[in-house]
Order: sequence, then C-alpha cells, then structure tokens
Amino acid sequence: MKKISFFNQGCRLNQSETATLEQTFQAGGHLVVPLSDQPDVVVVNTCTVTENGDTDTRRLVSKIVRDNPNCKIALIGCQAQILKEQLLKLPNVQWVVGNAQKMNLMDLLEVDQSEPQVVVPKILRETFTIDTPGTDPRHTRANIKVQDGCDFYCAFCVIPFARGPARSRDYHDTLRETVTLAGAGYKELIVTGINVGTYNDGTHTFVDLLNGMLKVDGLQRIRISSIEPTTVDWSVIKMMAEDNALCRYLHLPIQSGTDEILERMSRKYTTGEFVDFVTRVSAAVPGLGLGTDVIVGFPGETPELFDQTAALLDSLPLTYFHVFSYSERMYARSQKHGDKVAPLEIQRRSKILRELSDRKKNDYMTTQLGTVQPVLFESKKRGEWVGLTETYIRVSVTSDRNLKNEICPVLLTDIEQDKIRGSLVNL
Ligand code: SF4
Repeated sequence: MKKISFFNQGCRLNQSETATLEQTFQAGGHLVVPLSDQPDVVVVNTCTVTENGDTDTRRLVSKIVRDNPNCKIALIGCQAQILKEQLLKLPNVQWVVGNAQKMNLMDLLEVDQSEPQVVVPKILRETFTIDTPGTDPRHTRANIKVQDGCDFYCAFCVIPFARGPARSRDYHDTLRETVTLAGAGYKELIVTGINVGTYNDGTHTFVDLLNGMLKVDGLQRIRISSIEPTTVDWSVIKMMAEDNALCRYLHLPIQSGTDEILERMSRKYTTGEFVDFVTRVSAAVPGLGLGTDVIVGFPGETPELFDQTAALLDSLPLTYFHVFSYSERMYARSQKHGDKVAPLEIQRRSKILRELSDRKKNDYMTTQLGTVQPVLFESKKRGEWVGLTETYIRVSVTSDRNLKNEICPVLLTDIEQDKIRGSLVNL
C-alpha cells in the first residue's frame, strides 16, 4: 500500500479523470492523502493548453519536492504526451505517462524501477470504456467523461496532438456510470470531453446520449460543458427548451469576432453564422446562460480587428466570457505567422474584454432579479450557502438548514459583485 497525493491541472476533463484515478487507487488498497501527509508518490495530471500550464507544473513540482524531498513524482496527461523530455529533467520525476496509458497508472506504479519510466505510446482512435465512476466527495456536481480527443486542428491549439484523435465512450458504459452517479446522490452531471458535440460511439450520436442520460432516474440536471458551435444539433436546443433536466446553459467558444482571424484560426464558422446561431438559440431558450471563450492577440489581430471583436461580443446575448491571452504552443500552426501582437498590447486588450465580460454578466444578472430560480447548493462560505442556477449564476442565501446538494427555489434579490443574493422560497 502506498500513500499517494493527486494534483489536477487544467480542464474539466482532467478533473474527471483525476477523480476516477483517485477512486481506482483507493479501490486498489492505496491511501489517498494530502501533500502534508508525506505521500510516497505524488501524481500531477498536467495541462498544456497555454504556456501557463507548463509553468504551473514546474512550480508545482518545485513545491512538492521542497515539502517532500523523498517522494516520487508521476507526471501524467497532456504535457507528458508532448513534452516528455522536459518533464524528465524535473526533480524526483519517476514516471512520465501520456494520455493513452494514464488511466492504467496504478499498474505502472507497481513496477518500481530505479530508472525513470516514460510511457507515452501513440493514442489510437478507439471507442473506450471507464470502469471506475468519477465520484469525488469534494464536489457536489460530478463530471462525466463521454469523449476525448479532437480532429479539428484549429491553428492555435495543441490539443489534437496532446489528446489524440476524436473518440467516444461506449454509450452503454456511459449510461452505466450515469446510473451509478445518480444512485450515489449526484443531482447534477456535467457532460465532459474535448469536443463533445462530435460524440459518436459507432451506434449513438450526442443527441442519443443526452436522451439516454435524461431518462436516468434521480438525476435532476445535466449540463453540457464547452461545446463547439458547429457541432450543436438543433434537437439539443429543443431538448433544452422542453426538458427541465437539461440545463439552459451553453458555453460556445467564439475565439474571435472577425472573419479574418477566424479564418486564420481555421475555425469552422464565420461571425455571421455564429451570430445567427446564437440569436436563434437565445430566442428558443428564454433566459439561456450563454458563455464563450475568446483569444486575444492572435497573430494578425490589428487594433481595428480587436475593436470589431469587442463590439461583436458586446452585441451578443452573452452572459460571460473567458478571455485567453494568445501564447505560442509547440505543434500549433499559428506559430508560423509573422505578425505577432506585443505582449503588453495583449495584456491591454485582455483587460478591456475582461471588463466587458463583467459588465455583460452584470447586465444578465440584472435581468434575473425578482425571478425565482432553482439553485443547487454546494457549500457554506462565511455563513452563507452558495450554489448555482441552471444558467450558471452563483447565488447565496442565509439559512440554518443544511442545504448541501439540495435544489431549492430562490427569489433572486440583489447583485453582490459576481453573484446574486436571494432568499429561499417556501413552496
Ligand atoms: S475544436 Fe479547436 S480549439 Fe477545440 S480542442 Fe479541437 S482543435 Fe482545440
């Protein structure tokens, strides 16, 4: 038996995989402990989507070694897949395991050899199953992995190299985990993958999968995580409008608000198509929570093109956006463009868009005041219970009751920074 600590970096998909790994190790008789408990092994599920991911891993490894000079470190996941030589140079690293093999980590750790082990085979396009459910007692809502990899090759993105080709989880295996998670008391599941809208296990599409999951007893909410705009079938929107259990929430990455940059990014839509889709969806699903991602400072983004992006984002019925500063990624084709934007200018533009996002969020929250919304409560912070609406607004209430994992109707009354205060409604 080993004492083992886990760290997760990056996206929701990594979170779901780390939760599954923790469960697998516990079931295998190992003890999952915090870093302060002097673990024998520390596992870091890494991210490489931006430069920050790489820097964060180096910093984290330094901290782990400072606190636990004798532990061995396993670096797994996306950085392991494409940066194995660099990772091997970091102190105490004993295993570097890519995405194809990381879920077999427990077996790999059994073979404790003196030389560091590098296990980074090619990732194959195969339908997959996951034996252990990703329950995580630290979270009220559970991520369920349904898909991995991507074939789109957007010019800025390293993910198709780090995560491999698009592949889907077996439909029946996914439903089995859905039933298990619902039985374990989870009320909300977040359907997670790299490019979930392309889900197809050979016999079932993404729409089939949602339909199957929505029939599972006990589940009250299904939320679709980030989804590529060109992959959303209109029947998903109809389900969202008609079925209370599919959250009225979409996160559709736009990345840029100009056709010039979208084309350079090799995105699969024009601004006109995006605007048209978002307008139709917002009309079909009243009150929709609609988020997006935008990259600032992609090569060739002139001040005028940036202004056009900001104006387009402002005009759309978006409720928030995540702003990413462009950074060069190994393998990504955008490295080849010569007309780079200066880092200070990227910072300036990012700040403008973050402020715009705050204003859009505030505008949206204002439209919600005076309404009653079901809120799934997750935690108690500074004497207040905090939870989420299905449209992804954070809500706080005061209550002496234990509201954890309860869905309660709340009258939304006041905006407080990035959340809304409300009061419980007795029905
Ligand atoms: S759709 Fe584009 S941005 Fe998203 S993972 Fe695939 S290549 Fe990357």
